[in-house]
Amino acid sequence: MKELVFGVDLGGTNIKVGLVSAEGTIVHRHQAETLGERGPAAVAERICQTARQCVEAADVGPDAVAGIGVGSPGTIDLENGVVLFSPNLPGWDDIPLRRMIEDDIGLPCALDNDANVAALAEQWAGAGRGASSLVLLTLGTGIGGGIVLDGRVWHGANGVAGEIGHMSINPDGPRCGCGNLGCLEAYASATAMVRRMHQAIQSGRETSLAPRLDDLTAQDIHKAALAGDKAARDNIEATGRYLGVGVSNIMHILNPQVIAFSGGVAAAGDMLMEPLLDEMEKRTLEASRRDVKVCFAELPRDAGVIGAARCFMLR
Ligand SMILES: [Zn+2]
Repeated sequence: MKELVFGVDLGGTNIKVGLVSAEGTIVHRHQAETLGERGPAAVAERICQTARQCVEAADVGPDAVAGIGVGSPGTIDLENGVVLFSPNLPGWDDIPLRRMIEDDIGLPCALDNDANVAALAEQWAGAGRGASSLVLLTLGTGIGGGIVLDGRVWHGANGVAGEIGHMSINPDGPRCGCGNLGCLEAYASATAMVRRMHQAIQSGRETSLAPRLDDLTAQDIHKAALAGDKAARDNIEATGRYLGVGVSNIMHILNPQVIAFSGGVAAAGDMLMEPLLDEMEKRTLEASRRDVKVCFAELPRDAGVIGAARCFMLR
C-alpha cells in the first residue's frame, strides 16, 4: 500500500529527504549536500538519488511511496512547477524542477516555496495541530512567512502571499532590502537586532558587547541578555514589541487560530514573547485575540521535510 510520501527540503547548503507517514511523522531520513554550483540538473538528480537512498535504507520497498513533495527556496510558478528565481541557488531562472524530478524518479511531484511548506507542516503536525489556520513567521537574517487557511497554503493571486516581513510598521522607518520603508524585517530580524545594537554601542550605551562590535550576531545579543546585560535585554524587548505590532496587524486581518515563530531570533524565548504579547494586547480587540494561540514553532528542524510531503498529499 502506498502510504508514504517523500518530503524534500531543498536548501542552499543541504538537501534533506524524509519518508513521511500519513500521520506526519518521518519514518526515515537521508541528507546530502546540495552542491548548487553544479547547476539545476545536477541538483535535481541529487534530490532523486538521495530519495532512492532513503527508500533503500528504510527498507520499505519502492511501491510504498506515493509521490514526492519538494519545498524550494525562491519564487515558484505553482501551476507549472517551475522555480522562477531563487536567491539561494545561483543560476536558477525558470527551472522546471517538478518535471525534472518526475522524469527522473518516476513518481508524481508537488512543488512549493520553502516558507509555505514550513507553515503547512506546523499547521498539520506542529504548533497548529488540530487548528485549520496558522501564520508562521521565520525570524532569521530576514523575516519569512507562510499563511495556512482552512488547512491549505494561501498563495494569493500571483503565488507571492505571505511576505509578512515586508509589512510596513513605520512609514518613515529605515529602508528595507526590498526597497520599501519601515518593513517589519527592518525592525525584528536578526540583521535589524544587530544594527540596533551597533547604534546603541556607537551612541555610548554601556554593554558587554562593545568589544565585539565587528562580528556581533543576534545569538551574542541573546547570550549577553541572559547574562544580565541591560542593553542586550532592551534590544530583545524592542524586537518583541515590533513583532507585537506586526502580529496585531496579522490578527486584525486574518484572525488565525495560531501565530507561530521559528528561526534563530525565536530562541530568545520568553524574553521576546512577553513584550510581544504586551504589545499585542494594547493593539488588538479582545474579541480578535481571545482564541488565538501565539507561540513558538514545534518543528524547527523538520518543518521543511514534513510540509513538503503534506504539500504532495494535498495536491
Ligand atoms: Zn521589505
